[in-house]
Amino acid sequence: MLESAAHHPVYNELVAISGEENVRDNTLDLLAYSRDASPFQFDSPGIVVRPGCTEEVSNILKIANDKKIPVVAAGARSSINGSPLPRVPNAIMLDLTRMDYFKGLDEDIMTVTVGAGLRWAELIHLLKEKGFKLGFRGPYGGNAGTVGGSLSGNSIGCGASKWGGACDSVVGLEVVLPTGEVVKTGSGWNPDSKPFARYTTFNDLTGLFLGDHGTLGVKTEATLKVYYTPNGVAFADYGFESIDDCAKVMHELQRKKLAEELVLLGDKNSIDLLANSYLDFWERLECILAVIIEEEDEEIANKKKEIVDQIAKRDGRSLGTFLSKAHWTDMFNMVQPLFDSGFWYNTCHLRPISTLPETVKGAHRIFEKYDIKGKGMNWIISALGVDRSYCTGWITLFIGNQKNKELMEKVWGELKQIELSTGGAVPYWCGPLWEKECLTQVNPNFHNLMRNIKGVLDPNNILHPTVFDL
Ligand SMILES: Cc1cc2nc3c(=O)[nH]c(=O)nc-3n(C[C@H](O)[C@H](O)[C@H](O)COP(=O)(O)OP(=O)(O)OC[C@H]3O[C@@H](n4cnc5c(N)ncnc54)[C@H](O)[C@@H]3O)c2cc1C
Repeated sequence: MLESAAHHPVYNELVAISGEENVRDNTLDLLAYSRDASPFQFDSPGIVVRPGCTEEVSNILKIANDKKIPVVAAGARSSINGSPLPRVPNAIMLDLTRMDYFKGLDEDIMTVTVGAGLRWAELIHLLKEKGFKLGFRGPYGGNAGTVGGSLSGNSIGCGASKWGGACDSVVGLEVVLPTGEVVKTGSGWNPDSKPFARYTTFNDLTGLFLGDHGTLGVKTEATLKVYYTPNGVAFADYGFESIDDCAKVMHELQRKKLAEELVLLGDKNSIDLLANSYLDFWERLECILAVIIEEEDEEIANKKKEIVDQIAKRDGRSLGTFLSKAHWTDMFNMVQPLFDSGFWYNTCHLRPISTLPETVKGAHRIFEKYDIKGKGMNWIISALGVDRSYCTGWITLFIGNQKNKELMEKVWGELKQIELSTGGAVPYWCGPLWEKECLTQVNPNFHNLMRNIKGVLDPNNILHPTVFDL
């Protein structure tokens, strides 16, 4: 282990709480903790601690609050938006990945309770062994991403078409407040109650902490809904000649809630990058919709596939099942290799499905204006159905060559503006990626309420200060 030249002012206190092996303040480790999976760069933390239990988190926060030292909670730092990076010097970073325990599956109330640092891939695997599945399975970075990180950043991803995003799957949380007190939300307000219900008796305090980007409390445990492993799974891929036709079908399937997952590839360029052999086999292929159906019974799954088929073939044609199968069975491994071409400049957000075609056309106008293909840059446009009627807009840019950085940032900025101004889109997570644009537009009463809540929960403003301009 590298020694630091001079220790952080609370080094000894943190060592006393979490043990020397779980506290680091040497330059090399701090450097490693100064990045997430985005191109953003901010301050390095002043010290990193890996607490092993809720009591340790509470004791660390009490010290930080007492000495007014900033604290930033982090999961795997797999965010592609800069959200877990400290924006003030000398902060204590709480790395929650040691709290990766599987506390228990409760078949009686159909929930699973886990430590906030558990990774989605591991949770899915552990549940599968017991005959269960989650609704929302995790973001597509789920090999690394933790439950606590996703719930703090409103993650959208696998299974969202049927079950909604990460936060929709939550029944209750255990949260440590910036002052060190521990709170259990939902039916957990009653010490004798199991975490079986989210909306009970008082306000929904769970919602207060979901999507807070670690500004209001540190999530230490989460209780999520579970379902039995399905016996019937069906797959179908459809090809379309235009984004308008493809989005129309996606919208209808989504409104009828027919699929577990609906993924759209939004133009020929994206198909070429992800599944180019399709372009050799099918002419006039502009978009692909991959459909995954999961049901308790095989007959129901197949019947649903027949209904999907009827709807999709009105404007599209069947392409078999290869892409949907590959997508579903390789879930978290599909997008990871795209990092081989460097960091992504992505613009993930939510929008009504009906507004997708206009956005794709707007993006194409920008790509043509700057001739980004000609400059060696590239893009993937995709979308994922969410809940009943909306979708993600995922437009990801690849820089190709670092010499393109300035141009890339220009294109990225314009793309974000187009996305926000088309069809009332909203980002799901924020971070430095979206924060400036969102704070320019946020209703002042809404923002004041956020500030007031922050002031009450975090009187010394120690938790992820400056985020959301609170
Ligand atoms: C290949 C790849 C694919 C991806 N695909 C998706 C995708 O489909 N959908 C998607 O939403 N994202 C995606 N991401 C981004 C990322 O994986 C997710 O956002 C994930 O939820 C982040 O989890 P994390 O544990 O890494 O959180 P971090 O990045 O460590 O933190 C995220 C935010 O949560 C806060 N935080 C973390 N843990 C806690 C806690 N216990 N208590 C309070 N605050 C906390 C942090 O301060 C920060 O603000 C992808 C990333 C990669 C690398």
